[in-house]
Amino acid sequence: MNADCDVLVIGAGISGLTAGYQLARRGIGVEVIDAAARPGGVIGSERRDGVLYERGPNSILDTSPRINELLEDLGIRGERIDVSAIASKRFVVRGSVLIALPTSAPAFLTTPLFSGRAKLGLLREPFVAPAPPGSEESVAQFVVRRLGGEFLDYAIEPFVAGIYAGDPAQLSLPAAFPRLHALERRYGSLIKGQIFGARERATRKDKSKRMAASFSFREGMQTLTDALARGVGRIRTDTRAMSIRREQTGAIVVTVERGGETAERRARAVILAVPADRAAALIRDFAPDAARALDAIPYAAVASVASVYRRSDIAHPLDGFGLLAPRVEHRRILGTLFSSSMFDDRAAEGEVLLTTFVGGQRDPHLPSLPDADLARIVREELAALLGARGAPRFCAVTRWPRAIPQYTLGHLERIRRAEQVQTALPGLFLCASYRGGIAVGDCIQSGLQTAEAVEKHIKNPERGRLG
Ligand SMILES: Cc1cc2nc3c(=O)[nH]c(=O)nc-3n(C[C@H](O)[C@H](O)[C@H](O)COP(=O)(O)OP(=O)(O)OC[C@H]3O[C@@H](n4cnc5c(N)ncnc54)[C@H](O)[C@@H]3O)c2cc1C
Repeated sequence: MNADCDVLVIGAGISGLTAGYQLARRGIGVEVIDAAARPGGVIGSERRDGVLYERGPNSILDTSPRINELLEDLGIRGERIDVSAIASKRFVVRGSVLIALPTSAPAFLTTPLFSGRAKLGLLREPFVAPAPPGSEESVAQFVVRRLGGEFLDYAIEPFVAGIYAGDPAQLSLPAAFPRLHALERRYGSLIKGQIFGARERATRKDKSKRMAASFSFREGMQTLTDALARGVGRIRTDTRAMSIRREQTGAIVVTVERGGETAERRARAVILAVPADRAAALIRDFAPDAARALDAIPYAAVASVASVYRRSDIAHPLDGFGLLAPRVEHRRILGTLFSSSMFDDRAAEGEVLLTTFVGGQRDPHLPSLPDADLARIVREELAALLGARGAPRFCAVTRWPRAIPQYTLGHLERIRRAEQVQTALPGLFLCASYRGGIAVGDCIQSGLQTAEAVEKHIKNPERGRLG
């Protein structure tokens, strides 16, 4: 077969870069292309006016030893910085007041975040029957059934908004929170599952998302994607994939466009590491049903607003990770990270950096407001919730019209249909945040798994399919 490279990766976000890097270090000829001007996808760190802020994700959860092995391999383990101890508290807004989420049994018993009735209700959780096998509940249905409505409103809904920018009434429990789903299936109860599951994870050396440490890098999250891009070596930015086909020799041909000119790249395998709608457009001709399934995956729009205030202008001690605003509190923000409490050197001496998220499935129209309106909304909310006085010294707005894929009811079936593309065009692999988890750590794991499957395919084209 006449090919320009063994593997062409389309999309240089964390998913595609991880897969590409892993293949390159195994001696496979890889080329990565991306339509944007720089690699990294939604990961992007900006240093400006004495501020280091993130345009997209702010931290990674250290859930698997494979993540640290990757950092080690890339030579950036020493750049890693963990969230500082002061940021261990997470606040939830109730009645316009910030209340720390309880992290121990005594704190849970005394917290004003939940009523006495809601707390007592937890005693019945181990006796609630599991959902019938094969049924698909929404996250909201599951939580109300097992824990009660108040836990949905003041614990789960704000977290779902914080992670997915999503709505728990729409998200599928087995797709969006597979571990919670598995806990009920396996132990019949979340409380029992927490106790027994912790022992099993300890033997696997994996950590639950609840217990895992969060980290970033001295120069921000982009340290990771920059290092991966350097490791891949052959990477072309400003290069958009326009179409994909197989030619008679067996090579997969990708037509790419760069600076108004088109060219063809031939590869033995192609990894499609782009958002679902872009993947759908590229496979529609030869896998129309898979394309329809990908097109049906909704995305939440989010705006991220970085604000810098003088420390003395904020009444709250900012002694935590950040705050989450439940839907029932009717605020206009999803939540705010206390970025300069999480990590050192994010703002100048005597200043604080706050990163606020607006929009999501709750307020999908807000992220398209002009910058000045978004800045005003955030300023007003920070004044009400944190006692922020005056205007911030620095404010930067980043919009993500299609920020985060929503694993809504029916998602696993959509993914099963989308994966049929791998039968329609053997050698084509899907790898992106709409599949296998949206967190950066999940995308790293998906990238590593895809690399393994692609390597198998190259060595034996009949066996390398990723199920
Ligand atoms: C605002 C925000 C905050 C977040 N916060 C966190 C967090 O704190 N922690 C966490 O773990 N996760 C967080 N996430 C989620 C996580 O960052 C993402 O799920 C993950 O980075 C997605 O990576 P990806 O490689 O799958 O996709 P992307 O990063 O979207 O990369 C896809 C790439 O494909 C390219 N592309 C698209 N079409 C084409 C084409 N036709 N040809 C060539 N290239 C193409 C794009 O230019 C892009 O670079 C956040 C996400 C957002 C948006």
